[in-house]
Amino acid sequence: MRQRILVVGGLAAGPSAASKAKRINPDAEVILFEEGEHVSYGICEIPYYLSGSISDIQDINPMDPATLERTRGVNVKTLHSVEEILPVRKKIIARELEHNRVIEYSYDKLILTTGSTVRKLGVKGVDARNVFRVKSLADGIAIKRYVTEMKPRACVIIGGGYVGMELCETLRSLGINVTLLHLDDYPMTGLEQETREAVLAELTRHKVEFRPRQKVTGFNVGLDGCVKTVVTESGSFNADIVILSIGVEPNTSLASQIGIRLGRYNGIVTDERQVTNIDSIFAAGDCCEVKNVINNKFMYIPLATYASRQGRVAGENAAGGATVFKGVIRSIGVKVFDLEVAQVGLSLDESRDSGIDAEKMQVIADSNVKSYPGNRSVNIVAILDRRRRRIVGANVFGGPGTVLRANLLGLAIQQKISVEDISHLDLVYSPPFSPLWDPVLVLANQLRKE
Ligand SMILES: Cc1cc2nc3c(=O)[nH]c(=O)nc-3n(C[C@H](O)[C@H](O)[C@H](O)COP(=O)(O)OP(=O)(O)OC[C@H]3O[C@@H](n4cnc5c(N)ncnc54)[C@H](O)[C@@H]3O)c2cc1C
Repeated sequence: MRQRILVVGGLAAGPSAASKAKRINPDAEVILFEEGEHVSYGICEIPYYLSGSISDIQDINPMDPATLERTRGVNVKTLHSVEEILPVRKKIIARELEHNRVIEYSYDKLILTTGSTVRKLGVKGVDARNVFRVKSLADGIAIKRYVTEMKPRACVIIGGGYVGMELCETLRSLGINVTLLHLDDYPMTGLEQETREAVLAELTRHKVEFRPRQKVTGFNVGLDGCVKTVVTESGSFNADIVILSIGVEPNTSLASQIGIRLGRYNGIVTDERQVTNIDSIFAAGDCCEVKNVINNKFMYIPLATYASRQGRVAGENAAGGATVFKGVIRSIGVKVFDLEVAQVGLSLDESRDSGIDAEKMQVIADSNVKSYPGNRSVNIVAILDRRRRRIVGANVFGGPGTVLRANLLGLAIQQKISVEDISHLDLVYSPPFSPLWDPVLVLANQLRKE
């Protein structure tokens, strides 16, 4: 009989899983359920769509359901919310949102790619007309419309993580005054102090008003249904528009109903084949935790790169293949105005918590030849495993080319290349791109010396 594979969730992991399953087993019937209107769009590009750097919405939403069906052979059901899984009967119950009708579907294999949800702020007024999240294409369209029609002059962004950074740049580029409220002393919690100070300096240089240690306690909402001020434990801030970027958590409500094993961060825990502990059910993407191969610990690192790759692995295995997702080191990059920032591997604290005899070292090197126009510095804050003489983590920040150096360090971390061997790498020297001694080589030489 024809195999039937159901996929729940249609953004990054889901379409990857569905397409791969169909490719591995072209005879299979693959059905993808998505509760929203759109599938497979570039959520990561939304800040650039809002700023106008990407002008055409089609560019971030090239794969409408019909195209996905035609090109990949996947049956796509948008505006369908999966409400229940019946694992013993191998069925799901989906609600067709347009007609409010409930339909049962049986499956041979089920792949959960339900993603993440924005953390709850839990204060009154959070649902006001001018409070937005950036979690879907619909959110992006709504913000764009509001900004175009209402022409806000003051924006309060709540949360100074990497999405918050991107939004600061977006809103400033539109000429809007930005106040950034953050719980901590410096933006980008989790990065090394040197990086966070550089990020703060860049925000300040671009006239973002950074307010540290701000816990939001409420919103003053006017008669028009819009927030007028954001109230915190220590102040209040005028706002014509409010954007929440307070992070996400795994969306595991379906999984937890049927006893799928969750980990420390409430994400689904799978094996390397993306198989859950429940028969015939796979999971991939932001609803899952990922194993960090440096310390072999499960972490919650919601990134599109992992979602897509895990989706492919889940799809292939569900369709009868045999492949694995080998884990991650964590590679994150963000542009904060003119500053490139990246983190690869573990932080100093995470390294020490993992029992690594770790120390931190910073080098500042040239991005390219000094005399070449546009020369900037590249700062590398490396975390060294002293016993094994290997790098286990790095923050890199600076001018153009910074993130590419982070990728190189990421490769060294993942492949466990020793500091000595890094110093022998054959890297490009060319005035526009790199000085005679690339920053990565400068770091390795410095580490060897010490
Ligand atoms: C502004 C922004 C910028 C980002 N930038 C980057 C970046 O530069 N690099 C990077 O690697 N990552 C980035 N990310 C993170 C990246 O977008 C996510 O990691 C990725 O989207 C995760 O994909 P996913 O498919 O696992 O989950 P999600 O994107 O959360 O998608 C899950 C989908 O499942 C649907 N769904 C959930 N439950 C059900 C149900 N019961 N029935 C039917 N459908 C359901 C949801 O509607 C949703 O469409 C960014 C995220 C944001 C918000």
